Formats: sequence, C-alpha cells, structure tokens
Amino acid sequence: MLRETADRQANDQKQPVDSEARVGYQGEVGAFGEQAAAAHGGQPVPFASFEKLLAALGQGEIDEAVIPIDNAVVGAIAEALDPLAAAVVDGLDLVATGLTSVPVRLALAAKTGTPLRDVRRAFSHPAALRQCRQRLAGLGIEPVVAYDTAGAATLVAADASTDAAVCSRRAAERAGLEVLVEDVSDKEPNGTRFVHLRMADHARPQVSFAFLRAASLTATARLDVLTGATLLPLAGTADYPLRLWALGADAARLQALAPVRDVQVISLGAPAAHASKVAPKEGTEPAIKSLPHATARKAATVVEVGPFKVGAGARAMIAGPCSVESPEQMMRIAREVASCGATALRGGIFKPRTNPYAFQGHGLEALSWMKAASKEVGLPIITEVMAVDQVGPVAEHADVLQIGARNMQNFDLLRAVGKAKRPVLLKRGAGATTDEWLGAAEYVMASGEPRVMLCERGIRTFETSTRNTLDLGGMLAVRPLTHLPLLADPSHAAGRADLVEGLARAAWAAGADGLIVEVHDDPARALSDADQALVPSRFQELARALGLAPDARLSLAQLRAWVDSIDRDLAELVRRRLDVAKVIGESKKKTGKAVLDPRREAAVRRTYLESIRDKKLADRLVDALIEAARAQQSIEE
Ligand code: PEP
Ligand code: MN
Repeated sequence: MLRETADRQANDQKQPVDSEARVGYQGEVGAFGEQAAAAHGGQPVPFASFEKLLAALGQGEIDEAVIPIDNAVVGAIAEALDPLAAAVVDGLDLVATGLTSVPVRLALAAKTGTPLRDVRRAFSHPAALRQCRQRLAGLGIEPVVAYDTAGAATLVAADASTDAAVCSRRAAERAGLEVLVEDVSDKEPNGTRFVHLRMADHARPQVSFAFLRAASLTATARLDVLTGATLLPLAGTADYPLRLWALGADAARLQALAPVRDVQVISLGAPAAHASKVAPKEGTEPAIKSLPHATARKAATVVEVGPFKVGAGARAMIAGPCSVESPEQMMRIAREVASCGATALRGGIFKPRTNPYAFQGHGLEALSWMKAASKEVGLPIITEVMAVDQVGPVAEHADVLQIGARNMQNFDLLRAVGKAKRPVLLKRGAGATTDEWLGAAEYVMASGEPRVMLCERGIRTFETSTRNTLDLGGMLAVRPLTHLPLLADPSHAAGRADLVEGLARAAWAAGADGLIVEVHDDPARALSDADQALVPSRFQELARALGLAPDARLSLAQLRAWVDSIDRDLAELVRRRLDVAKVIGESKKKTGKAVLDPRREAAVRRTYLESIRDKKLADRLVDALIEAARAQQSIEE
C-alpha cells in the first residue's frame, strides 16, 4: 500500500530497487519517511536520528537511506540536510540515486473522545511543526517538539492528557488515536521531497545533488541562475561559514564555475559525468541557455490569485467578453461564466484593432465595470495593456496584466509590466517563434516579475479558413523548456465560434495549464470579435466537457445535465475497468500468479480514498468494483 501511494507521486528520476533492499529512514513506523523508503519497493527500516541513519548506511547495515530535503510549506529541511552535509563533508562517499515526492497530510490526532477545544499542546517533529505553525496558533494550540511525527503519536497515546500529535493518519491510527483535523498544513497541497542515497561504490548517481562550501554569499551569487540549481543555505561550520546544498544543477557547469568563485562542490551525483552512457532524457535540457529565468530547470511556477490558480497541475479557465462594452454586459457575462466554473474574468478595455476607426475600447472607465463584476462573482480580472503609460493605472485595479500578441516584442512595455507587481499573461505573437516568445517572457522576468503565463493564441499561416492556426505543437515544444504555466486561447486562434470548443478540448487534452475563451451573450451586437464569441450555453457545454465545477447559480435543470454527463463518463470508465480486470485475470492464469493480492487491493482503496476523502463511500465503491472484477475473473472467494 505504501509503495503504491508514494510511487504514483514519485519523481521519474529513480532507479529500480530490488524488494530485498533495506531502506532506512528517520522516525517510526507511520512516519512520512517510511512512505519514501517503501516507494521503490524496498523494506523500510526505522532509525531514531539522521545521524544514526547515515552511520548505518556507511557501515553497510542498510542498502539505502532516504532523507527529506524540502517541503512545500517550509522549503529546505535543515534538520535533515545539516547532518547529511556534515556526514558528506566528513567524507561519507554517497550518491543520490533518486527523488521521491510524498504527499503530506498532517493530521491532528488525540486520544479518542478528546474534543478539539480541549487540546492545548501538539507534539511533532520540528519540521512538521513548522509546516502548521499558523493553523495551530489559530486553534490556540502550543507546538511541542518531539523527535518524530509517528513517535509523537505513540507519545500522546501513552499519556493521560488531552495533548495531540501532528502526524500522518496512518501513524495516528497505528497509535490508536482519533483524527480531529485531517490536515493542519498551512498550505495545501503539502508535500515533502526525499532523496534516496546509496554508497558510491554500490550505485550510480541518477540525481544532480551537491553540497557547496563557500566563504561568502557573494561567491555563490547567481550560481543558481547560471546552473539551473536550487541553492539553499545551511547552518555551515566555523571554517566554512556558508554551506549550501544544490539540487538539479547542470553539474558540469557548476564544476566549471566553482573554482572561479572559490566554491567547493561536493557532488553526490553528477549525471553529466556518465551522460554518454545513458539514453538522452527527453525534455529536460533547455535549448535556450541564454534565458536563465524563463528556461531555468526548476519546479513548475504556480500563479495564484484567489480562486485563480495555474501551474503544477492546477488548471485555469479564463472567460469573458473580447471587449468590456458596458457595466451591464460585463456583469451578465461574468455571472454566466462564473456559474460554469471559470476561475478568472477577461475583458478588453484597450483594444488593439487592425482598423483604426473600429471600436478602441472604453479605457479605464471600463475597468471599474470589470471590478464591479469581479466583486460580484468573486473572480480576479485579466485585462490587456497596450502602452507603458497604461500599466500603472491598470495595475492598480486589475489582478493580471495581459500583453497582447501584437505587443509581444514591445520591449519597453514588457519591462514596464515586469515592474508592476502583477502576474502577466503573455500572448505569443502571431509571427513569433517559440524562442522569441520565451525571450519576451525573459524580459518580464528580468524586470522583476516571476509570475509569467505563456499563452498560445494561434500563429499566422497560409491557411485562410481560420483566423490563425492554433500551434499546439509549438506549445508542447515549449513545455520541456520552461517552468512557466502554458495557456491556450482557442478563440483568437479560430476566429470562429464553431471551432472554439474543438480547439479548446484539444489544447486541454494536450496538457495546457489553462484556457482563455471569449464569451458574449449577444454576439451579433458585440463591438469586437463577434464571430468567435461563444454564447453562454455553448460555454457551459465546454466547461462541462472539461470537467469544471459549476455553482448553484445554474438552474437545477442545468446542474442535472451536468451531473448526467459525469455519470455517462463514470459508467464508461467502470466498463473499461472491468474489461481490463478481465484481461488481468487471463494474464494471471497464464503466468500462474496468485490470483488475489491484498496489497493491490489496499492500494486501490487508497487511490479512491485519496480522491473521494470519504472512507465509507470509497470503501463501498471499491467493494463493488472488486466484487465485479472477481466475477469477471471468475475467482472463488
Ligand atoms: C485579446 O485577448 O483580446 C486579444 C486581442 O488577443 P491577441 O492579443 O491574442 O490577439
Ligand atoms: Mn478578442
């Protein structure tokens, strides 16, 4: 069960471990480290401290160790990295063989029957306590340090008080505690990355991971930008006041720059050194090395403004009219799109028009109309700025600034929005290559704004049946080069409403992090881009097809249609599951494998529980599915 959970989250950079391998972790059974230790199939072995864990690895008592390195809420886990750095500096010859991300849900658990209001103190590992400092403070609970999360659960169980533990649900259940709050993490989703370590003579490094010793901070300045590394300072020692760890660096580059900077690199894995022996990995090396911000090899950038969140799995739907035409028009359309699950409102107040006599936008006054609509429906606003002098006044009220296709290489404008302290949606120019697009993003980022979203909106080709050609190939080609969210605009690509849904679905299926779609409730009278606007009912169908979440502003009949379409999908998935289960049965019979596998069943239960979060419902669904699958496989209980 543990293995399956962590495995699905596990980074690709892992190497298979034989199931006999002993993998050490710090903490007790039920600790998050145990999940990481089991992730690649090894046998988890608990240790009381990181020092003991590393000593055991050095002495060959275990084959591998997992160490937590960073966490989504608190960043670097100094409690683990410091002893690791010390061991490495002392000469322990380790290599990093993999990374595993473990989703972290910090349950607040106490003795059965303890009311939450009676809990005054919560015990846990210091790193875990740092991840829920604010939530605990809000509950009036004092954090108390214990040596491990699961250990804290045991401690609380053995005590007669109303104290609580912050630990995994598994640890709480093992200790016989009742979970009072499912997750007290200050930020969700929470997660911790673990590095897998082996002795250098037993394994080959797979992950670029290094410690740096430097005499001053200036020595390491810009090393992150130049090598793509994540650099984080550690406590260090007297002879080397600064000691950092670097992850994901271009190892060869780091080694080359180090002597010049008076930095010593102690590498636990330099894939470049044996790169010629391994098959080239697709999509990790940025082609455009001269763009250190836009193409840095780092975790996906997430742009978040209230309910609008995009990147690293979060997807956005921006919708609204091409032009903001009147307060009423904006309000009506905002209500329509918000009720269908849009996460941000669009609308132009300054319009770039091919014809200078065409409607040019109502200007700043229209921004107040957008603002009113935004307030009413609770969604942030995105609007285009066309000139440097518009940036300040628009940024005062708009949540996200859009750079239109025509202005993608207006470098003064790019610099100005980069200083406006607002996220930027950067449209690709109709005649711009993907490199030029990334270069434009670099301008914005170099001016100070890291929250840039790239938006593919169609390029000009010989084709005349569409306004532009939506270049999903270009969008996909950019994906491995950048950590920035990638959006698609099917409306301006198509130029005609009848193609918008198809292009939107194609972009979504291709993995766009979000879409921006034009919607108008009276296209015939629209002041711009009338031909490509979706009417609200069509937008609703699209939102349904993409799996957005509607709200109660829709009529009961509309909501029922929504749920009916989910049922159709669900029924189809159940049928597919049964079909595959049948084939699995045939395969098992052929290979003589055990027909029933309780570990697999537990993994399935966990998958459903993770999504559904209601244990009773998840269990009932899994019971029904497993019973049906067994009938398919004609297995006798
Ligand atoms: C718009 O989004 O209203 C717009 C003008 O788009 P583009 O810059 O992509 O043409
Ligand atoms: Mn438009």
